[in-house]
Amino acid sequence: MSGTERTTVLISGGGPAGIVLGLLLGRAGIAVTVLEKHADFLRDFRGDTVHASTMRLIDDLGLAERFRRLPQGRLGNLELPDRDGSMVTIADFNRLPEPYNYVGMVPQWNLLNLLAEEAAKEPSFTLRMEAESLSLLQEGGRVAGVRYRSNRDGTEREVRADLTVVCEGRSSRLRQELDLPEVAYRVPFDAWWFRLPRCPEDQDEVRIAPLIRGSEVLLTLHREDYFQLAYLAPKGSDARLRGEGVESFRRRISALCPAFADRVDSITTMDQVHMLDVRLNLLRRWYADAALCIGDAAHAMTPVGGVGINLAVQDAVAAARILEPALQRGTVAADDLAQVQKRRMLPTRVVQTAQRAVNRAVLQPTFEGRRSGAPAPLVAVLRGVPVLSALPARLVSHGIRPEPTPAFARRAASG
Ligand SMILES: Cc1cc2nc3c(=O)[nH]c(=O)nc-3n(C[C@H](O)[C@H](O)[C@H](O)COP(=O)(O)OP(=O)(O)OC[C@H]3O[C@@H](n4cnc5c(N)ncnc54)[C@H](O)[C@@H]3O)c2cc1C
Repeated sequence: MSGTERTTVLISGGGPAGIVLGLLLGRAGIAVTVLEKHADFLRDFRGDTVHASTMRLIDDLGLAERFRRLPQGRLGNLELPDRDGSMVTIADFNRLPEPYNYVGMVPQWNLLNLLAEEAAKEPSFTLRMEAESLSLLQEGGRVAGVRYRSNRDGTEREVRADLTVVCEGRSSRLRQELDLPEVAYRVPFDAWWFRLPRCPEDQDEVRIAPLIRGSEVLLTLHREDYFQLAYLAPKGSDARLRGEGVESFRRRISALCPAFADRVDSITTMDQVHMLDVRLNLLRRWYADAALCIGDAAHAMTPVGGVGINLAVQDAVAAARILEPALQRGTVAADDLAQVQKRRMLPTRVVQTAQRAVNRAVLQPTFEGRRSGAPAPLVAVLRGVPVLSALPARLVSHGIRPEPTPAFARRAASG
């Protein structure tokens, strides 16, 4: 063990929840340290969606100009294929009021880099990259910080803190150690991520309409010079897919999207195809004595609707706003932490209920090979009354109970 540091708030995990919370608390002048186990934010599978609630936060933080300069596409709607292969719009963002009438498709590392650079301007903010939390420090039944390892030089250190916030995402080690009661929901699929090159003649229009064939689904995200693809198949298929080998995988992708047949050779080994174990779960209690879980560490989200990032960001805004007075006083009580859970439980439950409904009505029948595409009654309703597609668009874009940006974090727009 080499060294002990001291801070007010220790945040474990530098994803959307952790970086946003760190930035907001930094702007309040509260000593905050974020530990992130990776060396950078460059991970393809984090999801690219930036919804209205996050764009509004970015504007309030005075970062609108810098955000708009990031490479990005605009997604106007979410679509599902009908049984005849035609597309039906299930969420039409164009029907929402400007300027937040689209979903920004921004590579997440660009967004996190922007927020982390901004946070670094605050003297009370520290970000330690390649710093992996190993375990909680416990003192008299209270969490007193974490023990972490520097993945740069292998040394182990401690950070002692008044409050530890676990933002480690779906596979959180510290959440497991806290042993909080949890409910897990069935998810019928996993995701395999990979890249394919983009050619100059490929269309620029941003669409992430799923392509469905039998019990397989393909989602395409547009990046500047390549496509980021998610192949979805029934849970538990990883060993079979890898056993069948890369040639068979290329054939599957070409069958799902014949336009990619000319480039699937760029997948040369199944090592280029990364599996993500998709989970949907919820902690019944988000906190322990001096420790709080937010984002996916409190409620792992599936990719459905692309809302997990926004929900994590909204958790961070609520946590910063609710906890700031107690942190300034130096006395964070269990009641304060309970307020964060109370505030965020309803939006979380609503989104998870919607994800479970999509699982049951659309995904499960697809992955069990019973039906491909949206259920006929839903298609009929959305085609008959297209204005209804504004409702899911509103839910996805703003969520319910949008979190006001705390006054201490607001800044005038700057270039
Ligand atoms: C296949 C798939 C696709 C998805 N696509 C989308 C999408 O398009 N849009 C969307 O909104 N949501 C999407 N989601 C959901 C979304 O990824 C999550 O809801 C969101 O990332 C949660 O943010 P977070 O900050 O809570 O956690 P994460 O984004 O998971 O961030 C956790 C961070 O903690 C770090 N970490 C973990 N353990 C430690 C440790 N011990 N020490 C230090 N650091 C640690 C990790 O490296 C990571 O940087 C998708 C989910 C899946 C499974």
